[in-house]
Amino acid sequence: MEKLKQIYEGKAKKLYETKDADQLIQEFKDDATAFDATKRGTILNKGVINNKLSEKIFTMLEKEGVPTHFVKRMNDRDMLVKKVRIIPVEVTIRNIVAGGMAKLLGLEEGIILKEPVLEYHYKEDKLHDPLINDYHIKALDIATDKELEAIKKYSFKINDLLRKFFDSKGLMLVDFKLEFGRHKGKVILADEISPDTCRLWDKKTKEKLDKDRFRRDLGNVEEAYQEVLRRVME
Ligand code: 5GP
Repeated sequence: MEKLKQIYEGKAKKLYETKDADQLIQEFKDDATAFDATKRGTILNKGVINNKLSEKIFTMLEKEGVPTHFVKRMNDRDMLVKKVRIIPVEVTIRNIVAGGMAKLLGLEEGIILKEPVLEYHYKEDKLHDPLINDYHIKALDIATDKELEAIKKYSFKINDLLRKFFDSKGLMLVDFKLEFGRHKGKVILADEISPDTCRLWDKKTKEKLDKDRFRRDLGNVEEAYQEVLRRVME
């Protein structure tokens, strides 16, 4: 399958049409942005690492009954995916307080939540991806009741599966972001799952092994991504 026309360029990925109207090529870039793209940089080989990690995780999720857009990894940076219409909502699941939740509620990072917290953010950089709830989503026709039910069910299931998966690799899944799309009348998981979209802390040392190293200038960014890949591939 070859890349035809580029139809989208986002902060970390590009999308290309293929000769199959139902399939796109998702290309992973090394570009990194934070704080609504006011901070920009590159993380050496991030694209290659996130492509491999996403392949591994999507494959595991599919095996466990979560439908995803993943078809196959084609090479270092390219993944063949099903063409979806992205629902413009970022779904965040949190197991431990960090980032946006620490800021919103004035909490210390690291508090273990009694149960996972699900948040919806409207996907609009200009507005800084504002926090919204089910009522906004339904009242504004962003997604239907039925779609939201599916999104919620899959998100919690993905959390259970990912927590177990990362725990077996010596990593704590602090929080993560998901995006879903519509495909043939169904909701399926899209985008990527990687240290760009998950907070991962070493279980023993609590060292951050994710994009927070870039966001907060903690150094050893490439090394952290490499370390996650190494553990996941073991
Ligand atoms: P927070 O709301 O605390 O900033 O982010 C929660 C989790 O979702 C983190 O794991 C973070 O990496 C991920 N996340 C939230 N928004 C975005 C986004 O716009 N892009 C990416 N790559 N990840 C996000």
